[in-house]
Amino acid sequence: MTFKTRFAPSPTGPLHLGHAYSALVAHDMAIAHGGTFLLRIEDIDQARARLEWETQIFDDLAWLGVRWPEAVMRQSQRQQAYNQALDTLWARGLLFACTCNRRDIFAAAQAPQEGAPLIGPDGIVYPGTCRDLHNATHAQMPRPRNVALRLDMAAAVQALQADQSARPLLEFSETGSGPNGETGQFDVHYDTLAETVGDVVLARRDMGTSYHLSVVLDDAEQGITHVVRGRDLFDATQIHVVLQGLLGLPKPVYHHHALIRDQAGKRLAKRDDARAIRKYRDDGCTPEDIRRMIGL
Ligand code: GLU
Ligand code: ZN
Repeated sequence: MTFKTRFAPSPTGPLHLGHAYSALVAHDMAIAHGGTFLLRIEDIDQARARLEWETQIFDDLAWLGVRWPEAVMRQSQRQQAYNQALDTLWARGLLFACTCNRRDIFAAAQAPQEGAPLIGPDGIVYPGTCRDLHNATHAQMPRPRNVALRLDMAAAVQALQADQSARPLLEFSETGSGPNGETGQFDVHYDTLAETVGDVVLARRDMGTSYHLSVVLDDAEQGITHVVRGRDLFDATQIHVVLQGLLGLPKPVYHHHALIRDQAGKRLAKRDDARAIRKYRDDGCTPEDIRRMIGL
């Protein structure tokens, strides 16, 4: 079996121990399987992405002994593919424009009849305000630009269920484990997706795409067979599986790994600069020291 995996950092800060762990686990698995390890720069958030961080990520990875044989994929150069997928989903009536801001969503989700706001893998489950405004003919209009687009999750699930092969579309194979020890063949509970995950944003107003849409399109484009990443993304995988089903994309095997914690047992924050690889390098650590620190 071919094995192709990737490490997909966002260049919004230094590479720290948690990133090093993720990159090395994926890299070591690729080597053990005689496979390929690729690198992808997830820089859709152009307001936060910096070229200096990207350069430092390459440098730190090379220092750690990580090699990638193919050209690096950059999400900021993939907007055309994202647009195409959004056009397809829009034409099928599965997207709607959303003009709510965070405060609107919080207020609507907190309305007395709603109870406590439900938190899904993407934050507060969207209360549906703008979904109810669109009508059956909206998909015949051109897809609006410069506005957030959400996936109508109930309609998406219905479209998948109408598909003859719906069942295999809504399962995935996990070789690591989720936060509650989920492993093996895992069913996406499609009958509750609309309530527990809700209408996730697929195109942010300021970006024209989103993490979820980009990650599934790019994994497919890079021919990724095994997605190796932190356990914090396990719950988001159900969104990715739905999108793969809707867009007819191949489904990789998933391997969610444990998260590196600090001495107090706290998860390393994305910008925990105190644990930056660069700092350990400056202190005279070797790549072997780093491996030892993270138990590899
Ligand atoms: N860019 C994501 C992150 O920094 C990783 C996405 C993924 O591996 O699916 O956490
Ligand atoms: Zn809205």
